[in-house]
Amino acid sequence: MEQIGTFAASSYTIRDLHLFRDIDDEQIAQALADCAVVRLAPGTTVENGNRARLYILLRGALAVEADTRNGMADGTVSKILPGESVGEQSVLDEAANLASISALEESELLLIEGELVWKLIDQSNGLARNLLRLLSFRIRAANALLRRRQKLGEFYRQLSMNDGLTGMYNRAWMNDMLPKLIATAHRAGTPLALVMLDLDHFKRFNDTHGHLAGDDALRAAADVISTALRPSDFALRYGGEELMVILPETAEALALMVAERLCTRMREAPIFRDMRIPLPHITASFGVAMLEAGMDDSALIAAADAAMYRAKEGGRNRVAR
Ligand code: GH3
Ligand code: MG
Ligand code: MG
Repeated sequence: MEQIGTFAASSYTIRDLHLFRDIDDEQIAQALADCAVVRLAPGTTVENGNRARLYILLRGALAVEADTRNGMADGTVSKILPGESVGEQSVLDEAANLASISALEESELLLIEGELVWKLIDQSNGLARNLLRLLSFRIRAANALLRRRQKLGEFYRQLSMNDGLTGMYNRAWMNDMLPKLIATAHRAGTPLALVMLDLDHFKRFNDTHGHLAGDDALRAAADVISTALRPSDFALRYGGEELMVILPETAEALALMVAERLCTRMREAPIFRDMRIPLPHITASFGVAMLEAGMDDSALIAAADAAMYRAKEGGRNRVAR
């Protein structure tokens, strides 16, 4: 960074500076007269000596990398073009400019010390107005960026809560949601049923039809379950070929009916619609458990699991309580 003269001695005028747009003030021009104009070689950075300073680009192009110490360490880089300024915020909150400013090409900058900016603000309503407008623009841009990031975060969160094969909720979702649903049920004194189901002889299905057909069958099974439920019920893939259904506000008699209906639909669902291959059907064993006083999520899951094993022992393709 090399000082090549003052603003008054340069070929630039106040009209070249966006921040001073529409300000026709001889006093301002005079105040800027002694400000340094510096030249930056391509690739070099501005040494701001830990001072609050305003930089206005006169020629060339700058890259400004957002401060990486304020918790938003994402290296957001913006490009500054001639007439635009950097550092107005550090001047206003009287802190050093922590952004890293580097030249994308040979550039010339006007350097205005923070104290002088404040003096000019006191003198000129026009400058104050332009600064407010600029800050408002910066806030809008920052908000838009945050909103985009929030959406992206939400997208990945959703992705992490869903099972890739079936599109059902996964275990991570259950770990998050089941305790909440249980707490609600305990608090409101409403019944809650949990149905655990495990596909029957699925190892044999894979061995007979191949693992890819097994995947298709799992997807079909997930579809059978998901489409048979009320909007207030939840279905998820607990793991492997084990699925789970959560039925809030559902008493035992109704839960057993729902499980019976799911069992029937599973048995009858065509797995392959391609008629050239024989139609294998799949069945599942269902275990139904009711939330009881003092039960937490693991106790409820254990009860549903035990019921499911009773359905297996009872001959599979059935519901047990
Ligand atoms: P049971 O009736 O006692 O449940 O018998 P099973 O063969 O279903 O039980 P087991 O637990 O021995 O086998 C489960 C099988 O499910 C083995 C495993 O390869 C298969 N499986 C688990 N996840 C997937 C998957 O994502 N895709 C496929 N194709 N198979 C899976
Ligand atoms: Mg299993
Ligand atoms: Mg099984």
